[in-house]
Amino acid sequence: MAKYGNLVGDIASRAQWIKHAGCSYRNRRNNAMPALDHIRRYHDELTAIRHDLHIHPELGMEEHRTSALVAEKLESWGIEVHRGVGGTGVVGVLRNGTGNRAIGLRADMDALPINELNDLPYKSQTPGVMHACGHDGHTTMLLGAAKYLAETKNFSGTVNFIFQPGEEGCGGALAMLEDGLFDRFPCDAIYGMHNAPGIELGKYAIRPGASAAGGAFFDIVVHGKGAHGARPEASIDPVLIASHITAALQSIVARNITPKEMAVVSVTKMIAGDAYNVIPEVVTLSGTARFFSRAVAEQIENAMRRLAEGIAAGFGATATLDWRFIFAPTINDPERTRDIADAAAGIVGDEHVDRDREPGMGSEDFSFMMEKVPGAYILVGNGPGYTPHNPRYNFNDETTPYGAALYAEVVERGLPK
Ligand SMILES: [Zn+2]
Ligand SMILES: [Zn+2]
Repeated sequence: MAKYGNLVGDIASRAQWIKHAGCSYRNRRNNAMPALDHIRRYHDELTAIRHDLHIHPELGMEEHRTSALVAEKLESWGIEVHRGVGGTGVVGVLRNGTGNRAIGLRADMDALPINELNDLPYKSQTPGVMHACGHDGHTTMLLGAAKYLAETKNFSGTVNFIFQPGEEGCGGALAMLEDGLFDRFPCDAIYGMHNAPGIELGKYAIRPGASAAGGAFFDIVVHGKGAHGARPEASIDPVLIASHITAALQSIVARNITPKEMAVVSVTKMIAGDAYNVIPEVVTLSGTARFFSRAVAEQIENAMRRLAEGIAAGFGATATLDWRFIFAPTINDPERTRDIADAAAGIVGDEHVDRDREPGMGSEDFSFMMEKVPGAYILVGNGPGYTPHNPRYNFNDETTPYGAALYAEVVERGLPK
C-alpha cells in the first residue's frame, strides 16, 4: 500500500477529484443515471446503516444482529432472502429478465476482538469488540448495491448477494460452502472487495492471478524426558531440541522453495517449562506459514514434518506436527479480473484503476469461494488513515458509493439486458 501514500491528497484535491470523476459518465451506453450518482442519492441512509453496524459489532460466526439487519433490509427492497446459510450467513437472490447467467457478490460481516480507541459518536458499544477491518463498510456497500439493483433492475439474469460470516480466521467462507452455497445459489462469476487505507478515494487496485497469500497455522509438540536442571544427563532436553527445530525451519523457505515463489515460515510461540531448575518434558512450538499456491503449502508442511520428526528422533525424542490450513491463496481469475477492472474504469476512468498491484501477504478467505467459482477480489480506496486491525482504524463513509457502484456496474455489464 505504501506506494499509494504520496497520491493521497488533501481535502481540496479530493473534492476536485470527485468532481473530475463525475465527468467520466458522458460516454455511457445508455441514458440511465450512472450507478454512482444514483447510489449517492441514498448515501445518508447507507451511512446510517454503517454507523449502526459499527456501534454493534459482532465476532465471527456470532453475527446474529448483523445478519438479521441485512435480511430485513433485503426483504424491504423486495429481494428473496435465505437466512442461516453456513451459520449466520445470509444470501439474497434477485432475478430479472430472461437471462440465465448468475453473478455472486460477496461481503463479510464480522468484527474483531479489539477494544476501539476511536472517539466517535458511533463508537463500538461492545467492549473488546470492534469493526477494525471495515466489514461494517463492506456489508453496507453490498446493501447499497442490492438496493440500487432492486430499484433499477437494469440487468437480465440472477444476482446472488452473499453476506458471509466469520472471515477473520473463523472459517465463514468454508461454512457457507459446506452448506451448499454454490449448489443452492449457482454462480458463473463471483466478486468481492476490501477497503484499502492508503489508496486514494475513488481509485481501485487489483491484479490477475495470485494476489494475496494463503495461510496455515502449526503446532509442533516435542516430547523429551524431564529432569533436574543440574542433571542434564538424566534428561532428553526438549528445549534444546525445539531450538534446533526452530533454526532448521528457517531452511525451508531458503533451501526447499524455489526463489521464484514467495513464502514465509514464522515460529511465533515457544511454550516450555515453568522453573529455573527443571528441564521440562514437553515443549510446543507454534507459528504461521504463508504461500501463494497449494503446492508450496504442501511442500512447507512436508518439510516441516520431516525436520521436526527427524531432528527429534536424532536426539532420542519424538515430535508431532499439527498443520491447519486456514486460508487458501487468493487467486484472481484473469477474465473476471479484467471484467471488474473494466467496470471500475467505467466508473472512475482507467487511469484510476491499478490493474497490476503488488501481491499482499495478508490472507482473505474469499479465496475458498474463488477455488469453486472463477472470481476476482478488488481493493477499493479508503483514503488516508490507519491500517485495518488497528484500534484507531475506521471505514471511510465516502468509500461506500464507490464500492456499491462497482458491485452494481459489474452486474449491469456482466448480465446485460
Ligand atoms: Zn481483517
Ligand atoms: Zn477484512
